[in-house]
Amino acid sequence: MRSQFLYQLLQVHRLKYNQSICSGINASALEKEIGPEQFPVNEHYFGLVNFGNTCYCNSVLQALYFCRPFREKVLAYKNQPRKKENLLTCLADLFHNIATQKKKVGVIPPKKFITRLRKENELFDNYMQQDAHEFLNYLLNTIADILHEEKKQEKQNGQLHNGSINDDNGNSNANDMPEPTWVHEMFQGTLTNETRCLNCETVSSKDEDFLDLSVDVEQNTSITHCLRGFSNTETLCSECKYYCEVCCSKQEAQKRMKVKKLPMILALHLKRFKYMDQLHRYTKLSYRVVFPLELRLFNTSGDATNPERMYDLVAVVVHCGSGPNRGHYIAIVKSHDFWLLFDDDIVEKIDAQAIEEFYGLTSDISKNSESGYILFYQSRD
Ligand SMILES: [Zn+2]
Repeated sequence: MRSQFLYQLLQVHRLKYNQSICSGINASALEKEIGPEQFPVNEHYFGLVNFGNTCYCNSVLQALYFCRPFREKVLAYKNQPRKKENLLTCLADLFHNIATQKKKVGVIPPKKFITRLRKENELFDNYMQQDAHEFLNYLLNTIADILHEEKKQEKQNGQLHNGSINDDNGNSNANDMPEPTWVHEMFQGTLTNETRCLNCETVSSKDEDFLDLSVDVEQNTSITHCLRGFSNTETLCSECKYYCEVCCSKQEAQKRMKVKKLPMILALHLKRFKYMDQLHRYTKLSYRVVFPLELRLFNTSGDATNPERMYDLVAVVVHCGSGPNRGHYIAIVKSHDFWLLFDDDIVEKIDAQAIEEFYGLTSDISKNSESGYILFYQSRD
């Protein structure tokens, strides 16, 4: 599930004014713009200080903070008995810090979280730009691992107290098949990989879980088109024939991948960084890919559990720049009835129409662009 590569974006650069002065003015302007009556009760809009190319992290954290079910679970974790520091306790402290601020707007340094992240994973232990999708994947998997480990510990402690540690088989089974955590309940969906043998017509299917979906992008398309492409029927022939269990031989087959279980929060990663063999490096595809505010999936399998699920766009991590080795990340999020743009320590209110500016470019791939990179869709039910 984790992608192999982590390319390192060198040096991001955007001109920054004096941070404290700028964010002070910006913060009060934001409060004024929203207005005292319209400002949502118990909501806080806090920018995050950049600790040297940490916008990949800041943008993902803001997007996740505005995925309300995720925020609520993280805050609930904060209220549990104190635990030894890990990435999740640091995230919970950060979210709690934002949620309990006296002021409605401002800036917070996510220092403890960044320090912990750099300590835990050497890939992030530097001042270079990182891939926001790689970070999201790492974060969700790490949180799931922490929760799973805690559940296991609790179970073992419970068994010790009850004096019934005779269930060795049960334990090893539990290790093989980890119980779903709230990260799974929120982000996990299932794909089904259907293969139809063209000789005997037998259809075999294999399920595969995902926490986010990575889709290829094409010029002047929509996210629905990209998802359809993802599920297009592929013919396995010549060297790529498929071994059919019924025919007991290699046969031509048709393969397609469909969504069988739709997640509560659908995280869609647009594969905008493509390795160019001729250039020996990754290049950015700034293609214009329209992503609607409301989404319904059409690439679901016949036996899907909830194919009608309607999704609303709640957050977008945007990559700005011409290529993976120079760039910057920002997040646009929906909060109550309006949209906000988080650019590290700067927070601005934007019009819903302004989201179109983040679809990408209709022309040339090499030009500078600010384009949607990870989309977060939250289900209505
Ligand atoms: Zn067959």
